[in-house]
Amino acid sequence: MTLVYDVAMRVRFRGQTRRQGVLLRGPAGWGEFSPFPDYDDATCARWLAAARESAYDGWPAPVRDRVPVNTTVPAVGPEQAHAMVRASGCTTAKVKVAEAGQTLADDVARVEAVRDALGPAGKVRVDANAAWSVDEAVNALRMLGKFDLEYAEQPVASLDDMAALRRRIDVPLAVDESVRRAEDPVRVAGLEAADIVVLKVQPIGGVRRCLEVAEACGLPVVVSSAVETSVGIAAGVALAAALPDLPYACGLGTVSLLAADVTAEPLLPVDGFLSVRAVAPDPSLVHTADDVRAHWLARMQAAADAA
Ligand SMILES: [Mg+2]
Repeated sequence: MTLVYDVAMRVRFRGQTRRQGVLLRGPAGWGEFSPFPDYDDATCARWLAAARESAYDGWPAPVRDRVPVNTTVPAVGPEQAHAMVRASGCTTAKVKVAEAGQTLADDVARVEAVRDALGPAGKVRVDANAAWSVDEAVNALRMLGKFDLEYAEQPVASLDDMAALRRRIDVPLAVDESVRRAEDPVRVAGLEAADIVVLKVQPIGGVRRCLEVAEACGLPVVVSSAVETSVGIAAGVALAAALPDLPYACGLGTVSLLAADVTAEPLLPVDGFLSVRAVAPDPSLVHTADDVRAHWLARMQAAADAA
């Protein structure tokens, strides 16, 4: 059985205002296939492998029954940032920095407010989405480092720049955008370009593939989402639940970025944690135009042919 979903985003993400994909059911449960619109068939084949693993093979046994998640603070002012963190119930916050049209002073004010909201025991990480040059990153992370950063996510774009930056600052670095394929984390480790890798189940090609990649690269992992429905998020939770060590809160609290979900029991954090469980969509909540459904079934077939 397949369902095609089509839901609005609350905030624009990767230039998109809607999120669409296929939910497929197999003997082991439900999987989600939701590659972004610009991805080619070969890339989509890995996303399909992840969906098929969830539907046909199931996931490795969990070693924990809940996983911590971070709250995400967009490029808002300090008062709003403070209030968002307090309302979240999370003890880890990821703060967007280096937003176009803003200044380092804006970042400093936002991170300071988040640190204040969490107190000294909370964890604050920043994400620049590759927007800085090496020199800009050195300057910014020296300023922001006084708020005791857990790590900085993709401050600069290239792995060479990540490696150069890492030699000049003390703040741990995480790669996100630099990890697009399963081979990338091993390259990151070889170049000593980061301390942490962000892994997402669909782009890498499944929970088991992510576990292999984590072991092969030898770096600690932060499990994040590709902004899926609760069906796809459940696969990310399964990965986080199966990792031998989980030292960092996961970026899996993203269902709230969607204006609707495919289940009446969404995987939303409670007190900063997601429970480890499978999710089945409710077909009565999934309404999709015929042309969108046809497009996605064709896309899934093309991905299958490219595998
Ligand atoms: Mg990121």
